[in-house]
Amino acid sequence: MIAVACSSSDPAPGNSFPTGGAPAAGAPPTSAGTSAAGSSAAGAANAGASGAPSSNGGANNGAGAGGAAAGASASFPNGALAAVSLTYDDGLDTHLATVIPALDAKGLKGTFFLSNFEGVDHKWALPNLKDPLTPRHMAWQAALAEGHELADHTVNHPCNSDSKAPGYHLTDYDLPRMSAELDDSIARLGRLGVKQPITFGYPCMSDTVGLGPSGTDYSPLVATRFLAARVSDAGIADPKTVDLLHVPLQDAGSKTGDQLKAMVDQAISARGWLVFIFHGVGMEQLSCPGDLVFDLKGCMINYLTTDTAAHQALVDYLAEKQAQVWTAPFGTVAKSLKK
Ligand SMILES: [Zn+2]
Repeated sequence: MIAVACSSSDPAPGNSFPTGGAPAAGAPPTSAGTSAAGSSAAGAANAGASGAPSSNGGANNGAGAGGAAAGASASFPNGALAAVSLTYDDGLDTHLATVIPALDAKGLKGTFFLSNFEGVDHKWALPNLKDPLTPRHMAWQAALAEGHELADHTVNHPCNSDSKAPGYHLTDYDLPRMSAELDDSIARLGRLGVKQPITFGYPCMSDTVGLGPSGTDYSPLVATRFLAARVSDAGIADPKTVDLLHVPLQDAGSKTGDQLKAMVDQAISARGWLVFIFHGVGMEQLSCPGDLVFDLKGCMINYLTTDTAAHQALVDYLAEKQAQVWTAPFGTVAKSLKK
């Protein structure tokens, strides 16, 4: 049993599952951040600037494709008006149990930002470099083989939060330590079969926090190692101007299916790239004790959840809209946009 006391957006310690905590710049699962995100998203991309490409030979243009057909240059393959990347953080049980089967059933592929909880060397998502792989590691390998993206989220998920173990706050890190940890994380992903180029998701939205007491920016370490990075800004990226090392996101935590679908509609209107961030999926699967004690055989860790039905509604909607919306892993979209 290992006390994990951690998640991406930082569960608060103590009883019940976290619903916010005090992470950096935040995207707590509910409230203000996200509604602001929604409105900023609407303005973030350049809605209407580019028309829908005319039906590129044979693409199914039916089903309310929006009608725009101005013939401007396409940002996305096959005449899609928008791109959506479904990203899931921290290698949670429900990603393996619920999310991947749901995506596979519709032929969609997601991005899984894998890390371990602090001090867990081998028994969570990332293997170490010496011990035999566990069934859990092999489940991630299988996901990769099916076309899902396994991406980098550090090894120990450092975070400035009371819930983090001593020594794993960003204030405890300096550039050499983070540099070594990023290299270690890449090597561990390599053991799962991940090859460069790899993408990165800042744990705890920490792109704005930095390392050490003075908050040293570590994005240069990210820039030299990764193809693209998801940051804490909320919005929908404009494919014509997006900085691939600062790709914004939309938090799917606690959202209803209708809210998630509305975000997709916003992306279509904006002709943008929408990157969803999920943590837990499925409220019904909370089963660990309130102190977040990890016991792989005894319970499932889940937090910052989106209801299973809401997630499924989004997946169904994306499958329906595939003539207009290109749903693809974060790294796949980044590669397509890289000049
Ligand atoms: Zn995380």
